[in-house]
Amino acid sequence: NGGGNTESLKYWPSNAKMPNISTILATNSVIKIIDQEINPYVDQWEAEGKFPAHKIFKILGSAGFLGVNKPVEDGGLGLDFSYSVAVAEELGNIHCGGIPMAIGVQSDMATPALARFGSAELKKEFLIPSIMGDKVACLGVSEVGAGSDVSSIMTKAVRKGDEYVISGGKMWTTNGTQADWMCLLANTSDGPPHRNKSLICLPMNLPGVHIARKIDKLGMWSSDTAQVFFDEVRVPCKNVIGQEGMGFTYQMLQFQEERLWAVANVLTSMDNIIQETIQYTRQRKIFKQPVLYHQTVHFRLAELQTEVELLRSLLHRATALYIKGNDVTKLASMAKLKGGRLVREVCDSCLQYWGGMGFTSDVLVSRLYRDTRLMSIGGGADEVMLGIICKYMDTLPRK
Ligand SMILES: Cc1cc2nc3c(=O)[nH]c(=O)nc-3n(C[C@H](O)[C@H](O)[C@H](O)COP(=O)(O)OP(=O)(O)OC[C@H]3O[C@@H](n4cnc5c(N)ncnc54)[C@H](O)[C@@H]3O)c2cc1C
Repeated sequence: NGGGNTESLKYWPSNAKMPNISTILATNSVIKIIDQEINPYVDQWEAEGKFPAHKIFKILGSAGFLGVNKPVEDGGLGLDFSYSVAVAEELGNIHCGGIPMAIGVQSDMATPALARFGSAELKKEFLIPSIMGDKVACLGVSEVGAGSDVSSIMTKAVRKGDEYVISGGKMWTTNGTQADWMCLLANTSDGPPHRNKSLICLPMNLPGVHIARKIDKLGMWSSDTAQVFFDEVRVPCKNVIGQEGMGFTYQMLQFQEERLWAVANVLTSMDNIIQETIQYTRQRKIFKQPVLYHQTVHFRLAELQTEVELLRSLLHRATALYIKGNDVTKLASMAKLKGGRLVREVCDSCLQYWGGMGFTSDVLVSRLYRDTRLMSIGGGADEVMLGIICKYMDTLPRK
C-alpha cells in the first residue's frame, strides 16, 4: 500500500516502501498533499459546489491516508485510531470544511463497520477499493423524516429469495452525487426499532437508485450533498455487513469514530482561525494602535485558545481510552458537543475582529464561520449529545 502508484510517490522519500506514521510525520506528506493538490483549488471547487472526489481520494488513498487504522490485509496502515485522529487534525489545514468532511466520510464514517464486521467478500469489493481511493463511499443514515432519531428511519430492505428489495430514500448524503457505493442503514424486519435494522453495502449504479438533487447549503459548498431515492433496488443479501438486525448497534459504534474524527478536524480549523486573526489584527491599526493591542482582543483570543487546548486534551484522553478498548461514548459525546459550540464561538469572535473584511467572502474566517456551523447539527446535534451524556449520568426522567 502506498508504494505502487506513481501519483503518490512524489509525497514519499525514495527509500520508503510502506508509509508508516513516523514517515508520515517526518515527511509532512498530508500537508504536502493539502498544499499542492487541494488548497490551490479550493476556491474553484467552492464556486463549483463540488470537488473531484475520485481524483483527490486516489491521491490520499495511494499515500495511505484513507485507511490509517484499517487492517494491513485490507490495504490499511494497521495503526490504531489515534493515528486517524492525527490525520484528521492535519486535514483541518484544508481551506474549507467541505473537503475534510468528505474525506472523513470515506475514511472514518462510512467504513468502520465494514472493516470490523464485514465479510471478506464485501471487504474486497467495497473496503479495499475505498481505502486505496479507487471507490468513493457515502453514508446513508439520515432521511427526510429521521435525522436525530435514527431509530425511526423508514427505508426498507425486504428479503426476496437471496436478494433485498430496497425502497425509500436518504437525505443529506455527503459525497452522494459522486459515490460508487453507500453504507446504507435500512429496516430489514418489522421488529423493535433497535434490532430491526441492518447496514448494507449498496452499489450506487444499480437500477432504481436515483440521485434526486444536489442540495444547496449555507456552507460546505465544495462537498456535494445529495438526496437519494431507492425504487425497488435489488441487492444481494450477502451485501449485509455483519449480522442482519445489528445495523443500529453497528451504526452507533461507527458514530463514535465519526464524532472523535470531527472534533480532531475542527481543532485545527480553530487554531488556524485564531492564528490568522492574530496576524490580521497585529497589522490592522485602529485608534493609532494594532487591533490586537486592545486588551479585549488579545485577552479574548487567549481565552479561546485556552478552550481549544482543553478540548484537545479531552479528545486525546477519549482517544487514548478508546484505543485501549473502553466505551468512550460519554467522552466522545462531550467532545462533540463542546467542539460544535466552541467552533461557533471561535469563528464568531474572530470574525468580529476582522471588521468589514470578516464579512467578505475573501477570508478563511468567513468561510469557516459558515462551514463549521454544521458541527452542532450533523452527526448528532448538540441536543442529541446532551441526551447521551444525561443517559450516562443517569439523570434522564425514569419511565
Ligand atoms: C451538510 C450536511 C451533510 C450531512 N451528511 C450526512 C451524511 O453523509 N450521511 C447521513 O446519514 N447524514 C448526513 N447529514 C445529516 C445530519 O446528520 C442530520 O442533519 C442531523 O443528524 C440532524 O438531523 P435532522 O437534520 O433530521 O434534524 P432533526 O432530527 O429534525 O432535528 C432538528 C433539531 O432538533 C433538535 N433536537 C434533536 N434532538 C433533540 C432532543 N432530544 N431534544 C431537544 N431538541 C432536539 C436539534 O437542535 C436538531 O438540530 C448531513 C447533514 C448536513 C446538513
